[in-house]
Amino acid sequence: MLAIRIHETGGPELLRVDDIPVPEPGPGELRFRVEAAGVNFIDTYQRSGLYPLALPAALGQEGAGVVTAVGPGVMNFSVGERVATAKASGAYAVETLAPVAQVVKVPAAIDARTAAAVLLQGLTAHYLAGDTFPLKAGDTALIHAGAGGVGLLLIQMARRRGARVIATVGSEAKAVLAREAGADAVCVYTQEEFPAAVRSFTGGCGVDVAYDSVGRDTFSGTLECLRPRGMFVSYGNSSGPVPPFAPLLLMQRGSLFFTRPTLANYVESPAELQRRTGELFRWIKSGELKVRVGAVFPLRAAAEAHRALEGRATTGKVILLPVDG
Ligand code: NDP
Repeated sequence: MLAIRIHETGGPELLRVDDIPVPEPGPGELRFRVEAAGVNFIDTYQRSGLYPLALPAALGQEGAGVVTAVGPGVMNFSVGERVATAKASGAYAVETLAPVAQVVKVPAAIDARTAAAVLLQGLTAHYLAGDTFPLKAGDTALIHAGAGGVGLLLIQMARRRGARVIATVGSEAKAVLAREAGADAVCVYTQEEFPAAVRSFTGGCGVDVAYDSVGRDTFSGTLECLRPRGMFVSYGNSSGPVPPFAPLLLMQRGSLFFTRPTLANYVESPAELQRRTGELFRWIKSGELKVRVGAVFPLRAAAEAHRALEGRATTGKVILLPVDG
């Protein structure tokens, strides 16, 4: 079976197309044939070594497909069912395993690409907008990388909760997408200073919450954008990790709150996962949530997909399509 793995950490050129045995599900696991695998920034962190893995490691946490085997004791899933997960152990492959506690059934109306596109990034946007900082009407949110996978979904979810959104993006073409997703204002932060754009948009008050996935490059600018007692949600490192800082900085910037959340803590129980995905699937079916698949690569071209994602050349979701052989 074809699988994309790393044997050492580093650049995209280290992604290897390996031929490995089809894995057997253990207790509490199932195996599914991958119809679409999601590419996420976390895959690049694992490849580069920022988030260490035991090597060799199969890449890819997100995928959708059809169950081909269930492990001992698994009662609630059966062979032939359509499923998706953000917790696969190597979704860049023809088949992969996942713990059933982190698997959802995919409704007939949702195709595999959409399911693979919305599991990890959709769940992330869902908890960021609904729980980390529960947005409500009248709130103003800054959303960095607004045309990215999480970004486009987060803008839509913020708007449906009644918040005003100012988004940042790296190009004019991306600005069009962020506006279409509902952003009230968009700043092309490669051309203008985003703290000044935020000041102008908020009449000098600052935003209630800033969702910052860019990390190192935006950290100090984002601090300038928050109102006193606002919340800094640092949820990613696309430009590199945020350097260490002293808590006093938060006092000096106006008694700010700072959190560094991760998805695993917001889908801790199967019930929480089902509730969040149920809502995502419902919004997609009703047309309330648009999922943009911006690029599709064959599985063998996973390295190209990583280069595009890290090179800021993608918008929305990046998908890999496995083909056996
Ligand atoms: P995106 O589709 O958002 O791609 C990353 C985007 O970041 C780029 O398109 C680019 O947009 C922007 N960016 C700014 N500076 C850089 C840089 N130096 N290098 C690369 N990109 C840069 O990716 P995802 O939607 O997959 O993930 C977004 C972020 O969310 C990631 O940081 C990821 O780690 C994080 N994440 C966190 C989760 C959590 O639970 N904490 C879960 C899922 C994702 P532009 O050109 O517009 O600046």
